[in-house]
Amino acid sequence: MRCERCGKEYPSRYYFKTRTICTECFSKLTPEEQVEAQRPKGLQSMTTTAFTIDGYQVVKSLGLIRGITVRSRSIFGTLGASLQTIVGGNITLFTELCEKARAEAFEMMVDHAEDIGANAVIGVRYDANDVMSGVTEVLCYGTAVVVTPLPS
Ligand SMILES: [Zn+2]
Repeated sequence: MRCERCGKEYPSRYYFKTRTICTECFSKLTPEEQVEAQRPKGLQSMTTTAFTIDGYQVVKSLGLIRGITVRSRSIFGTLGASLQTIVGGNITLFTELCEKARAEAFEMMVDHAEDIGANAVIGVRYDANDVMSGVTEVLCYGTAVVVTPLPS
């Protein structure tokens, strides 16, 4: 997927605030441009950690939806991360793994929302649990809703 503003190529929708604009470009828009950019077009879903979306009203709540991925840490990744732990600083090997798992869980959640006819997901949260040693479950969940623009 390519951002229409900066032209950068991203591996998934997780890095996008809208269907065509990446999170980074979106943060640089004016508030008016942001509302315009988030206007639903077709199956595009808006997602937010808040429970409201500026300029929109929730007309229907379709309930809780979620996406789950389960990841096992490879022995090499664990060894590398152990070394990094000794050296100190940000453990990039785990950061990358978590980021990928979150992106997958997020994608699944958005797909689920679109399947049941939602055009937005509010109250998006992440959660992670160790299922067993070295195996982590990453959960992304939120409330699927149908929104329409508020009359201006
Ligand atoms: Zn961009």
